[in-house]
Amino acid sequence: MRKPFVAGNWKMNKNNQEAEELARQLKEKIAAVEGADILICPPFTSLSLISKVIKDTGVFLGAQNMHWEESGAFTGEVSAQMLKSAGCGFVLIGHSERRKYFSESNQVVNKKIKAALKASLSPIVCVGETLEEREAGKEKDIVGCQLEEGLASLGEQDLGEITIAYEPVWAIGTGKTATGLQAEQMHAFIREWLEKKYSSSLSNDLRILYGGSVKASNTKELMGQKNIDGTLVGGASLDASGFAEIVKNSL
Ligand code: PEP
Repeated sequence: MRKPFVAGNWKMNKNNQEAEELARQLKEKIAAVEGADILICPPFTSLSLISKVIKDTGVFLGAQNMHWEESGAFTGEVSAQMLKSAGCGFVLIGHSERRKYFSESNQVVNKKIKAALKASLSPIVCVGETLEEREAGKEKDIVGCQLEEGLASLGEQDLGEITIAYEPVWAIGTGKTATGLQAEQMHAFIREWLEKKYSSSLSNDLRILYGGSVKASNTKELMGQKNIDGTLVGGASLDASGFAEIVKNSL
């Protein structure tokens, strides 16, 4: 039985004061929730601060990105070890906004996953097709290629530490959610891919999240699908009540 997993991606929002306020509100509303894993991913600048706010709650802390090197002359970048020391247990890798605006390739995603695992950070690996690719009927080829190249040369034990997030690019920040059926079809495809490439036990255990305009009102439909184990929530995670409602609807 896969435990529901709800992750909030705050993107480039909230200064330290606002982030602390949001984390405090969330703590009040969701810290006592049992039966789901809850993760928040604030911007780098407030990770250490939020780590203190959510200490002693079951809420996990994650970052939105990282560099694959451990240290060195990479101005403006942050390493996995730095995230770990700021209190993170998770990191988003290959979010479509990273792929689109920062040209992250599947090969870069692969290097980042390996560096995260080496530092004992759990990667949440994001995959998903654009609208153009879906309209051309290529969505499974695209996601299959992202998995093949992004997870290249990773073993079954490595995969045990990974969560996959299916985020159709056309549904991110657009208000346009994939239907339960559209999402389920891709999640089932990802699970089959994992079974063929690794094993049925890995495929059964690995959690696959859906992301793309998730809100309280569409959570139950999504979570009602056999292969959807949770959600990666962007915009709606910036409101404590809305995010708490999504968590409640995921149980
Ligand atoms: C995301 O940032 O991963 C995301 C899915 O955003 P939104 O929920 O705003 O579509």
